[in-house]
Amino acid sequence: MKILISNDDGYQAPGIVALFEALRDVAEVEVIAPEQNNSAKSNALTLHSPLYVTRASNGFRYINGTPADCVHIALTGLLGYRPDLVVSGINNGANMGDDTIYSGTVGAAMEGYLFGIPAIAFSQVEKNWEHLASAARKARDLVLQMSRQNLIGSSPWLLNVNIPNLPFDALGHVKLCRLGRRHAAEAVITQISPRGDTMYWIGAAGATKDDAEGTDFHATTQGHISMTPLKVDLTDHDHLGYWAQTAARLAGAAPPTTAT
Ligand code: MN
Repeated sequence: MKILISNDDGYQAPGIVALFEALRDVAEVEVIAPEQNNSAKSNALTLHSPLYVTRASNGFRYINGTPADCVHIALTGLLGYRPDLVVSGINNGANMGDDTIYSGTVGAAMEGYLFGIPAIAFSQVEKNWEHLASAARKARDLVLQMSRQNLIGSSPWLLNVNIPNLPFDALGHVKLCRLGRRHAAEAVITQISPRGDTMYWIGAAGATKDDAEGTDFHATTQGHISMTPLKVDLTDHDHLGYWAQTAARLAGAAPPTTAT
């Protein structure tokens, strides 16, 4: 089994080091990750500046780009082979509900999925790296179980996994969840720079709006590990009928006229 590991917190983050250490004895593992913290970069690709690949002393390779850049470059020429699995993380903080749209951790995994490779995004729920070793051990167990069930190397899938910051023995089951929802983000924060200009800082993620039973938010507050299969098709399938009627009405209506 060949695994490509990336993340969005950067190649020096404790989460990717722990993930590499946990997976290195169960697979051939390569790390190709961003040089800097690229959280919330989603699937962004760098199209207007050159990218450089550098080998760190621990063997990891890092790129002055985004998480999706790393996986994209790895799969389109750098690796020279096709990995069986792309694993991203372990992220410093939850990627639940609406977070998945913004998440670079999910973005790296999604890039693998878009190239037809099974992919998993791993995140710890809290941002303090507490019990990182137990999260890495869980990630390893999950990858091994999936390998034994022949799920790896088959048709592509994309899984989003959030692990509570708990000791290994205190972690609950892996629960299959739907994504919850958050409220819109907190207000932007403004400060005055030393030169008198107004600076804007993106506000914190919103509080949970839908954390009902069955969601990732609910499962992780109960101490369980949430696992959500994701897809990329953003089509609003539930409202295709409504929009078909609306579009027909718009097409039949006379265009607005200007008075002559
Ligand atoms: Mn991150």
